[in-house]
Amino acid sequence: MLTLEKYTIGVGDRFAHQAKAQLQACVKLAEEGVDVVPVWNKSNREHSFIGSEPQSVYDAAKLAVDALAWGKGWHVDADHINLDTVDKYLGSSDFFTIDVADYIGQSVEGDVVAAFVGKHPELVGTVAIEGIDEPFEITAEYVEEVAGKYLGASAEAARIYRHIESKKDGFIAEVSMDETDAPQTPPELLIILAALADEGVRLQTIAPKFTGRFNKGVDYVGDLAQFEKEFNDDLAVIAHAIAKYGLPENLKLSVHSGSDKFSIYPIIGTAIRRSGAGVHVKTAGTTWLEELIGLAEAGGDGLVLSKEIYAKALDNVDALCAPYASVIDIDADKLPNAQEVDGWSGEQYANALRHVQEHPEFNMHFRQLLHISFKLAAKEGARYTELLKANEEVVAKNVTENIYDRHFKRLFVES
Ligand SMILES: [Zn+2]
Repeated sequence: MLTLEKYTIGVGDRFAHQAKAQLQACVKLAEEGVDVVPVWNKSNREHSFIGSEPQSVYDAAKLAVDALAWGKGWHVDADHINLDTVDKYLGSSDFFTIDVADYIGQSVEGDVVAAFVGKHPELVGTVAIEGIDEPFEITAEYVEEVAGKYLGASAEAARIYRHIESKKDGFIAEVSMDETDAPQTPPELLIILAALADEGVRLQTIAPKFTGRFNKGVDYVGDLAQFEKEFNDDLAVIAHAIAKYGLPENLKLSVHSGSDKFSIYPIIGTAIRRSGAGVHVKTAGTTWLEELIGLAEAGGDGLVLSKEIYAKALDNVDALCAPYASVIDIDADKLPNAQEVDGWSGEQYANALRHVQEHPEFNMHFRQLLHISFKLAAKEGARYTELLKANEEVVAKNVTENIYDRHFKRLFVES
């Protein structure tokens, strides 16, 4: 079995030009004594939007690892795969995000639920968990209800896990249930982990849906105190499940849509340092925004293209937003019009887009719209990627700074 390191960061690189700049942030943090291992991820949906192949993610990552002589771990994540899509990732990925959210709530056959409840008397009654003040009071009916909701998803996770296992010697499995409507509570997580252990799924990370909104590319929206309690309770539940059900010792939480969630980073950071737990924070789409910022700052043709992409995004705002409706909050009235943006300097464009919330020119609506507009850059093909190459230095500076200053420092460096 391949073992996932304690602290890992999911990095997305849609156009496969920034792996070195991303890795540079890990190098800087390692110099401060904190090891964070990069996991390059790109979902099937992104590959199809951009027209890229899974192998390209591995190739770009490998070049960066060699160029910077990175001697620590690194991985390539087949992000949000299912049984239909997993095969083309088997050659180039060693990390598999097994997405079973669609199977939550699917009915299971026969007496599977009753058998699960019968097998797990320890889940019923007063369940004391180290690190949680109030023991869970769980009834048999509740276990039945939660099992009924999640056993189908656990069985599907097991099917996909065994499929990968039959084709690969060593790999890391994550089970994700985040792309659904209702968050999973800590008692639900405990029951889900018991079910996955029963199925023999050796998962090393689990991505539940947390309370609150994890919109793309902007800060967390929700009750911070409630998130803190839930996150800490989840950590305690995981430690309990490892001991009780023999799950992998390094099993940890994975926070999806984790980029830019600045208000919860200190909570996560404090919790992992206090408990000694690891964490995987999956960030994906914001590296492409740093490319746009860099091109705007570069001026000339780079700024022209940045403005064109925004104008086209405005023209197609409804079509672009449709697939992301549940993970963006764009107020159309707060979007500057194309003419106004056309008059901006590169600095103004960068200020509106860069995620510095306290900057007077920052505009979260502008940012969210551009976040989901990477397809428009993909359509430009070589015009876009040639500009990335021509302006590599300013783009890379923004990519590294974003990950290191705004993400790593808040998550992994004690303030
Ligand atoms: Zn996800």
